[in-house]
Amino acid sequence: MEFKKIVKTILFWEILQGMWLTLSNLPPWNAVTRQYPKEPRYSDPGFRGLHALVRNPDTGREKCIACGLCAAVCPSRCITIHTGEDDKGEKIAEEYEVDVLRCVFCAFCVEACPVGAIVLSEHYEYSGYSRGDFYFNKERLLDNWDTFFPGEKGKWYMDNIWKHPNADDYKAHDDQAVFHGIQKEEKQ
Ligand code: SF4
Ligand code: SF4
Repeated sequence: MEFKKIVKTILFWEILQGMWLTLSNLPPWNAVTRQYPKEPRYSDPGFRGLHALVRNPDTGREKCIACGLCAAVCPSRCITIHTGEDDKGEKIAEEYEVDVLRCVFCAFCVEACPVGAIVLSEHYEYSGYSRGDFYFNKERLLDNWDTFFPGEKGKWYMDNIWKHPNADDYKAHDDQAVFHGIQKEEKQ
């Protein structure tokens, strides 16, 4: 064994190094104390906080097309959707509810949505006195969009944080076999 190694072994060198690291960080001038809530900690863009339903900028209504993919993919089963039809007979989400207390903020719902209709905001400071305060229905989720993604922020978020796929992304390549259905004359 090298002489240096022997000395280090006798002196418990690694332990001394670890002790020094601990002691050097003990003095109060090394501590970082944030006086929350006076000094709030701002979250970075893309933080997975409270949910919001995205408004269509053209119609002012929700972008959601009530496909149910977000509810199907949600591992906590905390999204509930009741579908209906609007005046034009198009499918809409009459009710859209997120039970935030059960949410694990995995953002699978955001990833699964084909039209970019649900997002997670940077907001994390919410509280309530009853369980009902944490049921976010469609109106509350749309309000969240107005509050946390005002003006150009929503567009910026969509362009930079969650790039949702377009229909073109799902196009089949040229050689791919595509099912076209059974022709009437082939049916028995
Ligand atoms: S973030 Fe995850 S757990 Fe929360 S609602 Fe979306 S899919 Fe469900
Ligand atoms: S996946 Fe998107 S469009 Fe489909 S129900 Fe959920 S939020 Fe609405």
